[in-house]
Amino acid sequence: MEKKGYTEETDIDNLEQKGKRLERLMKEFLKDRLSERRNPISFNDFLYLASKEPEKVFRNIFQIFHDMIHYYVPEGIDEYKDEESAGFLNYDMTNLFIKGCDNPFYADRLFANRIINLSKIFKKGTQNNQIYLFEGPPGSGKSTFLNNLLYKLEEYTKTEDGTTYKINWKLDLERLGSKKKKILNDVITQNHNKPESKISTDEESYLEFSCPNHCNPILLIPKIYRREFLKELIEDKTKLHCLLNDREYEWVLQDDVCGICSSIYKGLMDKLEDVMEVFSMVRAKKNYYNRQFGEGISVFNPGDEIKNIEIRQLKLEEKIRELIGTEHFRFEYSYLAKTNNGVLALMDIKEKNVGRLKDYHGIISDGIHKVELTEEKIRTLFVGLVNPEDTVHYEEVMSFRDRIITVNIPYVLDYMTEVAIYKEHFGSDIANKFLPGVLENFGKVIISTRLDKESKAIKKWLGERNNYSNVIDKDYLLLKMEIYRGIIPEYIKEEDIKKFVRPIRKEILAESELEGKKGFSGRLSLNIFNKFFNQYSANHKLITMSNVKSFFYNQKDLSKNIPDGFIDSLENQYDYQVVQEMKESLYYYNEEQISKDILNYIFAVNFEIGETKKNIYTNEMIDIDEELFKSFETMILGDNATDFSRINFRNSIRNEYISTTLAQEIRLQGKDIKETDLYQNLFEKFTRNLKEFALVPYLSNDTFRRALYDYGTESFNAYDNKIKKDINFMIDNMTKKFNYSKEGALQICQYILEKNIGKKY
Ligand SMILES: [Zn+2]
Repeated sequence: MEKKGYTEETDIDNLEQKGKRLERLMKEFLKDRLSERRNPISFNDFLYLASKEPEKVFRNIFQIFHDMIHYYVPEGIDEYKDEESAGFLNYDMTNLFIKGCDNPFYADRLFANRIINLSKIFKKGTQNNQIYLFEGPPGSGKSTFLNNLLYKLEEYTKTEDGTTYKINWKLDLERLGSKKKKILNDVITQNHNKPESKISTDEESYLEFSCPNHCNPILLIPKIYRREFLKELIEDKTKLHCLLNDREYEWVLQDDVCGICSSIYKGLMDKLEDVMEVFSMVRAKKNYYNRQFGEGISVFNPGDEIKNIEIRQLKLEEKIRELIGTEHFRFEYSYLAKTNNGVLALMDIKEKNVGRLKDYHGIISDGIHKVELTEEKIRTLFVGLVNPEDTVHYEEVMSFRDRIITVNIPYVLDYMTEVAIYKEHFGSDIANKFLPGVLENFGKVIISTRLDKESKAIKKWLGERNNYSNVIDKDYLLLKMEIYRGIIPEYIKEEDIKKFVRPIRKEILAESELEGKKGFSGRLSLNIFNKFFNQYSANHKLITMSNVKSFFYNQKDLSKNIPDGFIDSLENQYDYQVVQEMKESLYYYNEEQISKDILNYIFAVNFEIGETKKNIYTNEMIDIDEELFKSFETMILGDNATDFSRINFRNSIRNEYISTTLAQEIRLQGKDIKETDLYQNLFEKFTRNLKEFALVPYLSNDTFRRALYDYGTESFNAYDNKIKKDINFMIDNMTKKFNYSKEGALQICQYILEKNIGKKY
């Protein structure tokens, strides 16, 4: 990276700063190294840590897993915060599944909620004697999901937050009366490739090795004393209470150390007859999970041979025996020890993994695995991936049903997530080739093939007949797609929102559990998108809704998967939306003028026609006449309002003004007139109607239409100022409010006029 003239200018100050930065970096680096060296820590230090943060030090794999998820995923967001919330929150899964991962995994909101709920189950500690199988169709990204999850677990255990400890023995050779040199040399040769049992830095005097089962050091405190011990140790009463009573911490009180640790402990006690001395040889070492070496995390592929390897470290065993004098001691453990307090994962339940699943079944139920004569207590998070057609391998076995918890990992059911996947694969600038909303609509077509057409829950809510035919398809799929994203669309009427109660929401979400198992797979949809994009992106115009429609209509093999009428409804919804956008962009209101009109009206309804009064809210003299009433009332009630309905309306306003607005809101609650319900309702209706009629004058205006086509050319200048001003104003709003490019804004306005849909919506 050479920039001419740049390096010469680097002055002394800069160099000094650089030097300081480097120095600081070196210090940080050394600090890290030191803290690494300080690991393992003494048993006393371990107890000190435990007394301060028992919730961090006493964690098994299930608790770690829960904490890991919450380390990467921030608190969920409830956008509506309404009383009927079903707890279906917006979780940002970027740090867990995307950031730093080789292949990102895109979780939609449904799946994100599923994962968070699962982590809560883990934390509770009630369902840990289970195997969790993630079931999803081919192409749903299952293995990417699991790979990323395990990768993040590994990373998490390297952080300060994710630190847990295992027992590390440091036997004092001299104290145990041994001839040191010989032992050490032997241990070195037998352990040269075993990082876990190595000779410590002061290698003259100690024999050091870690528990192969990842026993938590607290388990060395004999079970009968443990409760009392913890009471002494932990000062924080709330934390102590949780530890002694919560199900998730049951293991702290109830578990035993593994056979290896318990034999060594007993041997040392017999020999030294001094508890303090025994514990001076116990240390706590950080657990490092490492998938590559199968440490804490093991992943088996269907093709991996089943080898029930039992590991016996004969020489180490001999040395320990020699030191402690335990005759029957065996340093022996199974390969399952390596994932004790870790994760054991089966990639796909087929071939050899079917056998593994069956082997684990007993272990999962009893939590015990027998190695020769010793029983290993197994606390492992068993997970697996399974295709729907492979569930036959275990489903007929009754006893399996109680031990397997299935978590669905279907195709993406949120069109925005679907679009994010296209952007990931084809570059985020693909979006610039589309008119706003069209790329999302492509996603909706893909999602429609994955949904169930029948939604009992939505029909229970809104009825069999769809009252929103302008914006939703007959099967309510377009509505369902929004709900799955956590959105209650604006077009849903107030009365229906009231009926959108928690049980209905839960029922709709529950139905999603059965969806996303059919339709276009993740892989296929990428192919379809690729084909579509190649076909239309070369066009000099932006990709339109019509392009999406004709693409799918012209391919029978694709369109047969799309629900009948869905694309037409999607087009309706799109048309409706773009017309609203154009209206909103064309209309402008003068808030001051509207406010004055409303205040004059509210004031005037209290007087007879023909009077002239000073409006107490505006301090202006107003003539109370038919013209004042009529112009305001037709704005609210429409052109066709009869005299009778206008007078009714006027009376109702007067009543509300006197009984509520004036008597309660203004006099009792001290509100300003503009803060009252009456004013605000009128303001809302007034502006809404203004907007509603915004397009009318332009729809049949040929000059406007021609000017739109001439925009950007010489001829545009020839039009009168009003037209030019309106068009510029509209295009400006389209770009600012609705994300159109200039070309896009023109294109969509021409689309609306050509299709003549301005009147329809
Ligand atoms: Zn152990």
